[in-house]
Amino acid sequence: MANLRCREYGFGCNYVSKGNAEKIVFDFWEHMNNEHGIDYSKETIMESVKRKNSETPRNP
Ligand SMILES: [Zn+2]
Repeated sequence: MANLRCREYGFGCNYVSKGNAEKIVFDFWEHMNNEHGIDYSKETIMESVKRKNSETPRNP
């Protein structure tokens, strides 16, 4: 399971989106809109998730 932290985007915020890639992207995008008023593109967020996932060893 992957995750994406709001803090990794430079915000002083403890929000963490977890789950499968599609869920992370949607939840994180929604959080950015609702909490920070920023409309990140879902493609940009997906790239971050993919990059993180490829760096994380798989644990079945
Ligand atoms: Zn946040």
